[in-house]
Amino acid sequence: MNERLDVTSDPEPNQPKEESGRQVRPFLGIKFGCCSIYARIYQNKDGTHYVGNCPKCAKQVRIKIGHGGSNNRFFTAY
Ligand SMILES: [Zn+2]
Repeated sequence: MNERLDVTSDPEPNQPKEESGRQVRPFLGIKFGCCSIYARIYQNKDGTHYVGNCPKCAKQVRIKIGHGGSNNRFFTAY
């Protein structure tokens, strides 16, 4: 007996947008000023900061998440 794969390229219609229950962790693209490279850092579990390390020199950065609602998704870490 052959296993059959049901593969469809159709997007699921009426997919409800439920945030709860899904592990979607927002990230931020930042430029590490130390090495002049871009990388992604992710929100910590408390949702208060974006934290990450420079992929080159492992310098840690923390960016506080404000309540002001900035649309700027890119920051430079110094
Ligand atoms: Zn660096």
